[in-house]
Amino acid sequence: MDILTKKDFLADASVEKLQAWCAGNGLPAFRARQIVGWLREKLVFEPEKMGNLPVSLRRELADFFHAPASRVAEKVAASDGTVKLRILLADGESVETVLIPTPDRLTFCLSTQVGCPVGCRFCASGEFGLTRNLRCGEILEEFLLSAREAGRKPDNVVFMGIGEGLLNFDEFARALEILSAPAPDGFGFAPRRITVSTSGFVPGMLRFAGLKKEYNLAVSLHAVDDATRAVLIPDPLRYPVKEILAAADSYRDASGRQYTIEYTLVAGVNDSPEAARALGKMASEHHAKINLIPLNRARGDFRRPDRRTIESFEKEVAATGARVTRRAERGLKRGAACGQLRSESLTKGQRDE
Ligand code: SAH
Ligand code: SF4
Repeated sequence: MDILTKKDFLADASVEKLQAWCAGNGLPAFRARQIVGWLREKLVFEPEKMGNLPVSLRRELADFFHAPASRVAEKVAASDGTVKLRILLADGESVETVLIPTPDRLTFCLSTQVGCPVGCRFCASGEFGLTRNLRCGEILEEFLLSAREAGRKPDNVVFMGIGEGLLNFDEFARALEILSAPAPDGFGFAPRRITVSTSGFVPGMLRFAGLKKEYNLAVSLHAVDDATRAVLIPDPLRYPVKEILAAADSYRDASGRQYTIEYTLVAGVNDSPEAARALGKMASEHHAKINLIPLNRARGDFRRPDRRTIESFEKEVAATGARVTRRAERGLKRGAACGQLRSESLTKGQRDE
């Protein structure tokens, strides 16, 4: 892991930093602009691919910054155009990204940690705990590799891949800042096109509110009461529902953005009509939207409710007057739930060192 703290990543280098680096190496200032052009316009972060730089400079960059950097190790494509990438990191670990095209937009789903310490009992990402946090540069490399795969930058970015980003606050917040900063330092994404999903890590949510930016917040509540939530999410990173909603309300007040309550539907656990009504009432009281996510079977004995139960749950919620949507099913058969490709590769022992 040492390798990951010793060097900086080129992907998150600012113009100022590159100018200073060029000056320190006796290089003209226009070289810094060329490097930034590769990073932010041509979506290339690997020095060896920066064709208009002298070979000696490419070598110096590769020496000074992190190299070899991340690369795509595995790709699973579905007939509906959804593509899932397993991205191999410099130290042999891996994370996942998903590219989700719909007729009107392209969304990238990115990861923030290798594994996840929260350990939700239905989620493949939490199965082996946390291996390590991603560095800011690695989060941007996921974005860049996904954009190259898609042939363009996305319309939206959601952080619903592997990990709990708010537990990796500083590196994650810096990645958000670079995604949303104007060119040439950033990718110029409006914060409203970026969604951060959290399992309800309250201290992180409060810090996130402190950024006072208009990112979208999605809160993975999954239950309206603490006892039901405890069936799905273990201690010690589970916070009380009341505290989570209070933190989400602070976020809404600081950002001016209505938030979303995510609710993974699990058969026999949180799919009763009473739960639906309580959820609708809770969301209305907090002026929040609801997104229902039918469980993708990934881990444990948890099952997705049958189609009729899902439909009537949605109707019950809607009958309370709350705004409710259901996550569209995507065509991925293998590794449909996030974290599953990584978890499969760990189980098969292929860490591609
Ligand atoms: N750690 C953050 C973000 C990553 S998980 C969080 O928990 O919000 C993103 C969403 O995917 C969460 O709402 C999570 O509950 C959901 N999820 C995880 N595994 C799932 C599965 N097997 N089926 C359906 N949804 C799942
Ligand atoms: Fe972590 Fe989110 Fe998966 Fe829970 S659902 S284990 S918080 S990635």
